[in-house]
This record gives sequence, C-alpha cells and structure tokens, in this order.
Amino acid sequence: MSTAPHTADQLRDLAAQAGRDLEEASAQDILRWAADTFGPRFCVTSSMEDAVVSHLASQVAPGVDVVFLDTGYHFPETIGTRDAVAAVMDVSVITLTPRQSVAEQDTQYGPKLHDRDPDLCCSLRKVKPLEEGLTAYDAWATGLRRDESPTRAGTPVVGWDAKRQKVKIAPIARWTQEDVDSYVAKHGVLTNPLLMDGYASVGCAPCTRRVLQGEDSRAGRWAGRGKTECGLHG
Ligand code: SF4
Repeated sequence: MSTAPHTADQLRDLAAQAGRDLEEASAQDILRWAADTFGPRFCVTSSMEDAVVSHLASQVAPGVDVVFLDTGYHFPETIGTRDAVAAVMDVSVITLTPRQSVAEQDTQYGPKLHDRDPDLCCSLRKVKPLEEGLTAYDAWATGLRRDESPTRAGTPVVGWDAKRQKVKIAPIARWTQEDVDSYVAKHGVLTNPLLMDGYASVGCAPCTRRVLQGEDSRAGRWAGRGKTECGLHG
C-alpha cells in the first residue's frame, strides 16, 4: 500500500472509512492498517503509564516512532519507564519538550502555574509541543480506552483529529482494564511502577494523586480542580 503523503481531505476520508471498517478489528489489525497506510508518517504517543500500545505497535511495525512528551513535571518513575522502553523494545523513542524549561516558565508566569491556571500550563507544556511534534506525521496512535472515564466512552478506534488535521487511532479503545492487565502479564510488558503504588493513571506529579476505591481510573488527575483532560484529546 502507498505511504505517500496524504492531503487533509484524504486523511479525513481514510479516518471515516477505517473507523467503520475497523470497529470490531483487533488492536494488532488496527495498528497494522495504520503502519501499512502511513508508513513512517505514523507514530505512537505514550505517557509511559504503560507500554502496551508501544509493544503492540512494535510487533507489527518494528522500529516505530514512540513519541513521549517530557513536560518537566514527570515523576522519576515515568522517566525511568521511558528509558526502559527505549532500551528493551524495538521502537524509536522520541522525546518532545516544551519551549520553556520549568524555571523559565516560572520566571514568566510565576511559580506553580499548574495550581493557578492548569489549562495554560497544559497548553504550554503538552498541547503546543505535541502539536509541533506531530507535524512530522499523518496519523498518531494513543492508549485511550472507552472504560477509563465518561469523557472517553465515545472514543473511536480510528477517528479524525480535526484540530490537528491528523488521523487519530485508539487501537485499544474497546479494551477493558482486565484486557490490559492480561496483555501486560502475558507479554511481560513494561509498566510504570506507580501503577503498583495506588496510582491508576499517571500524569505530571503536581497534578496526579492516588485513586480511592470505587473511583474511575482518571479520578486522580487534577483532582478537585474541575479539569479532566489536558487538551491533548479534546
Ligand atoms: S498536568 Fe499539571 S503540571 Fe502537567 S502540564 Fe498540565 S497543569 Fe502543568
């Protein structure tokens, strides 16, 4: 299949068609379609909460680009997971960084912007760097799952990211937490050690807490701040 660059109209049509055709497909088949269709203009993005999608993609597209956003606020365990993924998996880890260091941001906006204006902090440290980093790609895969939170319940396996004019792929959208756990156990996939320490979803350290029994997996993100997503997926 051709991997020549696509126009935005072609990408949008491809996303709509694949979203219908691949709704019932396995994660591997969805990723195989993406790798065949987009070649090197396809990447996986990972928060390094676990390496499930990276592992799946490495099976069908060895050496695939895995894009990681280093906000400067990550837990050491997250950076360690990224380094371990780069060392042991057949992927090419690409680290994106914000234009400003945390110190430079503190100088311009004052310290702890994440407490005062988390939307601006996420925009500066996540949304803009990803937008710039994704210009090299036509399609990106994420680990979004429908069972993670009500805001993610409608996630298509292949959709159109109108904001970035890219095809957005969620190969494990239909998976449950049990599916993830069993894939991790079966294949010995790397996971962030914080998942064994009460965290169900791992983001930046200042904005992530452990979850309580009965809470959904993303309840520990921006807890008490009326914010549920960082803007990467909205
Ligand atoms: S999650 Fe928190 S620290 Fe990280 S970019 Fe967003 S507001 Fe800033």
